[in-house]
Amino acid sequence: MAAAGAARVLITRPMTAAVNARAQLGFDVEIRQSTAPMSPEEMIESLRAFDVVVPTLGDAYSAEIFAAVTDPRCKLLANFGVGYNHIDVAAARAAGLEVTNTPGAVTDATADIALTLMLMSARRAGEGERLVRSGSWQGWHPTQMLGLHLSGKRLGIVGLGRIGDAIARRAHFGFGMEIAYVARSDKETSYPAERAESLLALAASVDMLVIAVPGGAETRHLVGAEVLAAMPPHAHLINIARGEVVDEAALIAALETGQIAGAGLDVYEFEPKVPAALRALDCVTLLPHLGTATEEVRSAMGHMALDNVAAYLAGEPLPNRV
Ligand code: NAP
Repeated sequence: MAAAGAARVLITRPMTAAVNARAQLGFDVEIRQSTAPMSPEEMIESLRAFDVVVPTLGDAYSAEIFAAVTDPRCKLLANFGVGYNHIDVAAARAAGLEVTNTPGAVTDATADIALTLMLMSARRAGEGERLVRSGSWQGWHPTQMLGLHLSGKRLGIVGLGRIGDAIARRAHFGFGMEIAYVARSDKETSYPAERAESLLALAASVDMLVIAVPGGAETRHLVGAEVLAAMPPHAHLINIARGEVVDEAALIAALETGQIAGAGLDVYEFEPKVPAALRALDCVTLLPHLGTATEEVRSAMGHMALDNVAAYLAGEPLPNRV
């Protein structure tokens, strides 16, 4: 524990006004003004100069970064976000740092973005919007831009955790969808849900497959050519989790050859780079990682991160240790 008065805190991006204000009132804080991820040099310096760092998506605290600093001053990475696959947690612990995240605060907003993408992809909303904007829409007719009717269809969820469950509830109670899933363990749900034998079996049996697992080594390319080939040709893939869970090149091939009907993506394998081949496809809906992008959710995430900072500085147990 660092002495609260002397402790220095770094927040690696500007936050909402409410979170900035609380941080400035409560801590000796530096708020980095850039919205871009930290460079390796900045991350190394952060471990030397601050007691606590509040990093976020894109700040790649890898094993090399920890290895570059002997006896780091920093003892806590209080991540802003539930996903922490940009931090090598084992390397952080080995270097004497704890890591926390912001679970729960993000759940509903991210599930809402999944439903947005499911509907946009199924009903060709992005394509339709581009048509109207182009000025070349010729008017309604009975077979214009027919999409997939979502109500009553079968939804496969890869990772029925907090967000997966919130997606399933919306889809089942709102759209009468049948729910099937894969996870590492059986889940108790407030709706009927079938745990599939395998991801391949799940992919083969659904009209829409939504990815809601954490990123990281264990789930990298979990959805690749084989899973995409198992999906029925009318099915859509939605990814609101992390880009690296999907083999993006295989996804592009599956879309280009009509192996699946469409995709709705909030995240990308090499974010923020989005391949031109993906951008050229009309059957994909592409959002710029909007999962938690509302003022109140970003404030709730910031407050949760600061609660972890405050607990650490007070010598109390960390509320959201990962
Ligand atoms: P969570 O509650 O931990 O749920 C993750 C689920 O994935 C659990 O059901 C877990 O199963 C399952 N899982 C983990 N590894 C698996 C594997 N190898 N195979 C199959 N299932 C596996 O996490 P969450 O709060 O729902 O968040 C999920 C992820 O969403 C985050 O990690 C983050 O990367 C992403 N996210 C994205 C946005 C965005 O802006 N687009 C926003 C928030 C979060 P068990 O329970 O059986 O272990």
